[in-house]
Amino acid sequence: MSVPDPAARAAELRTTLHHHAHRYYVLDAPEIPDAEYDRLVRELRALEEANPDLASPESPTQRVGAGSLSASFAPVTHRVPMTSLDNAMDAAELGAWGERVARGLGGTAASYVCELKIDGLAMSLRYEGGRFVQAATRGDGRVGEDVTANVATIAGLPHRLPAGAPDVLEVRGEVYMSLASFEALNDRAEQAGQPRFANPRNAAAGSLRQKDARITAQRELSFWCYQLGEVVGGPSFTSHHQTLDFLAELGFPVNPEIRVVPDLGGVDEFCRHWQQHRHDLPYEIDGAVCKVDDLAQREVLGFTSRAPRWAIAYKFPPEERTTLLRDIQVSIGRTGRATPFAVLEPVFVGGSTVGMATLHNQDQVAAKDVRPGDTVIVRKAGDVIPEVVGPVLELRPDGLAEWAFPTECPSCGGPLVRSEGEAQTRCVNPDCPQKVLARITHFGSRGAMDIEGLGEQQVQLFLELGLLHDVADVYSLDFGRIRELPRYGDTSVGNLRAAVDASKSRPLANLLFGLNITHLGQAGGEALAEGLGSLPAIMDASVDDLAAVDGVGPVVAASIHDFFGDPANRRLVQRLIDAGVNIQGPERSVLPQTLSGRSVVVTGSVPGHSRESAEAAIKARGGKSPGSVSKKTFAVVVGDDPGASKVTKAEALGVPMVGAALFEELLETGEIPTGGGT
Ligand code: NAD
Repeated sequence: MSVPDPAARAAELRTTLHHHAHRYYVLDAPEIPDAEYDRLVRELRALEEANPDLASPESPTQRVGAGSLSASFAPVTHRVPMTSLDNAMDAAELGAWGERVARGLGGTAASYVCELKIDGLAMSLRYEGGRFVQAATRGDGRVGEDVTANVATIAGLPHRLPAGAPDVLEVRGEVYMSLASFEALNDRAEQAGQPRFANPRNAAAGSLRQKDARITAQRELSFWCYQLGEVVGGPSFTSHHQTLDFLAELGFPVNPEIRVVPDLGGVDEFCRHWQQHRHDLPYEIDGAVCKVDDLAQREVLGFTSRAPRWAIAYKFPPEERTTLLRDIQVSIGRTGRATPFAVLEPVFVGGSTVGMATLHNQDQVAAKDVRPGDTVIVRKAGDVIPEVVGPVLELRPDGLAEWAFPTECPSCGGPLVRSEGEAQTRCVNPDCPQKVLARITHFGSRGAMDIEGLGEQQVQLFLELGLLHDVADVYSLDFGRIRELPRYGDTSVGNLRAAVDASKSRPLANLLFGLNITHLGQAGGEALAEGLGSLPAIMDASVDDLAAVDGVGPVVAASIHDFFGDPANRRLVQRLIDAGVNIQGPERSVLPQTLSGRSVVVTGSVPGHSRESAEAAIKARGGKSPGSVSKKTFAVVVGDDPGASKVTKAEALGVPMVGAALFEELLETGEIPTGGGT
């Protein structure tokens, strides 16, 4: 298929991928299966390869993670970048990788270490003087989030290392949740009327990002380590498997299924074996990882911008089964969107039983031509959302009628409307009970006001009892009446009251996201809160002011303006303000903006500062602090033990270097201090 305008398609793909990466990495709430995300990445990569002028270091094909971090945790700069992995989807791609490795090594043979690809999230653990001092997520590969208190709760991780351990030891591996802990967590969530986690990976990621480490402790996370990061002192190694043996000796959990194999045939066998046996394990894997064993050979092969050349992830193909499509129904979301979904004869696929699968929208149902009564292929990839691939036409009973999209809302009976040019069909009744339920549930959900104990079931119950009508009623709930309900005791009512109170101090971005403004996601909420500073300022901003905020596009700006232009919405928001919710954005810097628009790179340690605080000091004065030197860099601050490559590059490009002793002067004046060269 030819692409009419590659630049437009590439831009569209980047926007889509950025959205899904944010949902996946920052919110732990993906909306599409991994296989679909990977397909879009591959499409973008193919476009960039065919049109080199479209390539950009900012493209999701070149980056690790979401490119943005949650604001809830302190940033940690990785001294050795935490990269991703390139993927092979089948044996042919694995073979092609083997050939690239052989070419890179000038024909020298390599042996490999085969590991399971644990479906969790990457973590860096730092030990200094034999003590556990820090844990950080991968983040964008350069800067991650400080989750030390949470990781400290993981059973089986050593807090102190035996004598002889290196002075500095950074251990990398995967935090994951076993299937047993995952089931137990979901059972507890169900009993408490909270939504179930979609899969163990999301549950692990969500558990790690708890602000209260006591909650993380209850989630029973586990860890397998598979890599060294920064190491100072201790023994030296020549192969990867020696490093793993060493980590096991120090008391770290190393996966027992890891194998050293002499050639690619061995890798292929390992991958095929685990593809068949993945569900025999008590935790989830989504593939196998194959790594060149010899550390000197790894040096020769090196890295691309986002992954090592000496390793490859072999991704298992999505699992597929056939089953009967009993019915197609539509569900109504918080903005009234009517989403068709398949009601299936339950079938075991991808490690769990699937009884429902989304069909996205009217056009998708038509394109797939699935009809109630068909035998359909169901696929589950990345274990996020099961998908109906299509009908098995040979098994279609004679005379099976095509499915027609309903014209009436299944909840309120009002009309379902599809506007011209829109893929979505919506229920336009503002009082549709299903919409009200979805809106209030969203308001209380994790990315919004995060009110534990106010899940869909409770909202439904409170709506039925007339205790709630809209989101502002959450702050005038009649707890006395709730206490009289059969399943509520003093503790559960006390917890709910405390959760409602605590939600008043959530960041403004969460409140904005919780208001159910069409097109406004969490990232947009953050941009608005940061850009305009307070709810009153946002409510009274013109469309142009809103669109001028970095990260808010014209469509979102118009939608926000419409929302606050509606008197009913303004009354609703005023009730929230009166209830005492936080309406202030993050504090903006009051320091003189001496470095406005300038980029200052820090290398080595600056006395009196951590890496993070030095970067924060630059940013607080309006500057930027990227991780690498370019000709646009205003100055490089050279601390103790600086990175040789940054200094060399600064010299080559003629970028001024400032000694650490003059850092404060640079901050204060925004000028290169005289005599500042190192
Ligand atoms: P990846 O998951 O393909 O591979 C890299 C990661 O593998 C490492 O960071 C590490 O966490 C993990 N890993 C597990 N076992 C390992 C081992 N033994 N050795 C080394 N690493 C090991 O890459 P990624 O960058 O983390 O994420 C990309 C994946 O996330 C893709 O599969 C993509 O589909 C998915 N994703 C999905 C969505 C979505 O919306 N569904 C959005 C973004 C990303």
